[in-house]
Amino acid sequence: MSKLYIVATPIGNLEDITLRALRILKEVDFVLCEDTRVTKVLLNKYEIKTATLSYFQHSKITKVNKIIDLLKKGNDFALVSDAGTPGISDPGNKLIEQVIGVLKNSVEIITIPGPSAVVSALSISGLPTDKFIFYGFLPHKKGKEKILQEIINNKFTSVFYESTHRILKTLNKLQELGLTKQVVICRELTKKFETVYRGTIDEVLKQLNNDTIKGEFVVIIN
Ligand code: SAM
Repeated sequence: MSKLYIVATPIGNLEDITLRALRILKEVDFVLCEDTRVTKVLLNKYEIKTATLSYFQHSKITKVNKIIDLLKKGNDFALVSDAGTPGISDPGNKLIEQVIGVLKNSVEIITIPGPSAVVSALSISGLPTDKFIFYGFLPHKKGKEKILQEIINNKFTSVFYESTHRILKTLNKLQELGLTKQVVICRELTKKFETVYRGTIDEVLKQLNNDTIKGEFVVIIN
């Protein structure tokens, strides 16, 4: 039976990859990439020469039929995303769903665990993690305020992903809605400009306003 390995890759620091992930990336017939240019940087660092195939272009999953055909013919694949664990708030999820939908039990789906921004951020947050709600990316417009209100009222820790362009707007909105809980913002984890901001919404906004707002963010609210 052909195998589809879901391989976690670094969220910044290229040393954050498991020995098993490196072996699988070497052994499979194809590495399926969200963006081949991003994955090639990792593959080149570890001198991995496996053929790559992109599955995501122009904001769409492409080549599903080709991938399914190759799996049917007995080829093994490693699915990677640009960073972290494929399928967690990235297009890998849709591809896995489609492969399972068509091939059902005739393909083995195997996890090769490793980094994920959500777990990395939670692990250093110092906030309760026995129960948490992960929102992935919040909607940009419609329904956003309702979710922010839900986060303010949650009994459990809330976590979401945010981009450079929206981080200040989202935090300002939480301030406007009267958030009083502790906030932890993890920026650029494992990278050169890694920074963790902790405090009330007023305190973190003050720190963020003083810094250059650039990079990738995970926001955690107690
Ligand atoms: N599948 C990935 C994972 O397992 O973490 C998440 C992919 S999602 C498309 C990308 C988002 O994850 C970014 O916009 C950011 O919110 C978060 N993220 C990824 N890398 C990060 C990092 N090094 N530091 C902080 N947040 C990060």
